[in-house]
Amino acid sequence: MLRRSESNVEGSAAPVGIACGRCRTVRSACEWSALPLRSEIGEAEVASLVSRWPADLVVVVRTCTCGAPIARLAPRQAG
Ligand SMILES: [Zn+2]
Repeated sequence: MLRRSESNVEGSAAPVGIACGRCRTVRSACEWSALPLRSEIGEAEVASLVSRWPADLVVVVRTCTCGAPIARLAPRQAG
């Protein structure tokens, strides 16, 4: 059911899998991208919580099939 793709990790910081904190289902980035989007948190909102935030990153929150939110750092799509 779950497929692992560990062969094409080229020393990047990209995580191998994204785990749900509630049901522990681990998804690939591709599978996670297919989940419904819950919200996208940009610099303006994160800046109130974190003193320094890279302008080219956003926090994308998607909803797991169990209903729990799964947050992940992603590059900003704008521009
Ligand atoms: Zn889940």
